[in-house]
Amino acid sequence: MAKMSTSEQLRAVIYTRISEDPRGLEAGVSRQLEDCRKLAVDRGWELAGEYSDNDISALQGKARPGYDELMAAASRGQFDRIVAYGLSRLWRNRKERAEAIDALSRTRISVALVKGSDLDLTSAAGRMYAGILGEFDTAESEIKAERVSRAAQARAEAGKANGRCPYGWKRVYQRDEQGRVLDWRDEVDPVSAEVVRSIVQDLLAGITLRAVTTRLNEMEIPSPGGGRWIPSSVRKLALRDLNIGLRRHRDTTYPGAWEPIVDEADHMKVKTLLGDPRRRTQRAAARTHLLTFGIGRCGVCGGVLAVSKKGPAGRKTSLYVCKEHGCVGRREEWVDGLVVATVCERLSRADAAAIFHADDAALAQEQSKVVALRSQLDEAADMYASGTIDREMLERITARVKPMLEAAERLARPAIPMPDAVQHLIDSHDSRAVWEELSISQRRAVLECLGVQVILKPARGGPGFKPESVELMWEPRRPT
Ligand SMILES: [Zn+2]
Repeated sequence: MAKMSTSEQLRAVIYTRISEDPRGLEAGVSRQLEDCRKLAVDRGWELAGEYSDNDISALQGKARPGYDELMAAASRGQFDRIVAYGLSRLWRNRKERAEAIDALSRTRISVALVKGSDLDLTSAAGRMYAGILGEFDTAESEIKAERVSRAAQARAEAGKANGRCPYGWKRVYQRDEQGRVLDWRDEVDPVSAEVVRSIVQDLLAGITLRAVTTRLNEMEIPSPGGGRWIPSSVRKLALRDLNIGLRRHRDTTYPGAWEPIVDEADHMKVKTLLGDPRRRTQRAAARTHLLTFGIGRCGVCGGVLAVSKKGPAGRKTSLYVCKEHGCVGRREEWVDGLVVATVCERLSRADAAAIFHADDAALAQEQSKVVALRSQLDEAADMYASGTIDREMLERITARVKPMLEAAERLARPAIPMPDAVQHLIDSHDSRAVWEELSISQRRAVLECLGVQVILKPARGGPGFKPESVELMWEPRRPT
């Protein structure tokens, strides 16, 4: 007989959702859940399930697996009521709301709210009421978003930081007699600004991101977030346009209301340096060999080299071998010796510095080509905006000009900055001695700067080193 009474009892499910709430103004999930359960018990409903989501922002349309399950169960008619804390917990936007009102009315499911009245979705008036109430929620959240974005725009135009004071500066507040904040500005913080400058200088000296990161951690300098440094955060810090006093908002750059902490020329060099795909920095410091990770290649399959130890215990020798297929193998010290001798000889010649000189005339030509092609695109966009040409025409022009522009942009890039180590090698009378002082990552930076590629060709004719079985190619980094 107990079964009889439960079948007459209404079945309710609870839906809770937590969204981003930095100021802690919303009820947390546990509080939402507690209040919802109490409502169901008070009404004498049978609790048939609980669904929950944890999403970050209601406006960004993120997936809600809990909500999807709820609606799937609703379509199967598994319950009669949904209990939610408030309407805005249940529906995040107009589309969701309209679809749900439709779907729930078909399966005759209604909604009960802890904060708000019941929504009877089985009647036309109830559905209208739910729709109107929801519109208020949507309007409130849209108005809030507009206000936030307007405030961010205004701060950008005033050159002020959005949110927290950026690393490298300190915030100075102007207050009234009661201590209330009237205004603020960001001043250079000598200590953290120096950290930023030292990062930029190290990178320009050819030190890898990972090595810079290790140094910062070894010196126990706290990261901007307070913990240990990681290469990606060092990289981000080095690339910030606000280092030279620029403030980016959306796609526009505004002059910042703060003092630059990095020289503009250095900033451009760092951006070129870190943007260069040939600079494979992520694992550079972990490298202990000169020619692994792409500087050396297999002359048979073109694959990269690895180092392998071969030979009887106690008398093992290190070999460079084709990493994937083992096509070739050569003793590491022999190959390294040949590479070092060749590089040092080349850099000690009188015309060594000329290796790095870009062809200025060709560079200027490419740069003016970039300007011309960009203005062609701008012109086409203007013509489209004024109705002179149609969309299809604009797309045709863009498709034709874009590849040419990209090619010209590639050729118009200024030369990569030369690592200090290369300059030392060129300046020194004894480049061999300078080389011996360099770390492996500095040596690799020199080879990368010179564009050295070492190809191991299959060796023929018995044991011993055949220098002719190693091919050395050069392609100094410059706009070519
Ligand atoms: Zn191979």
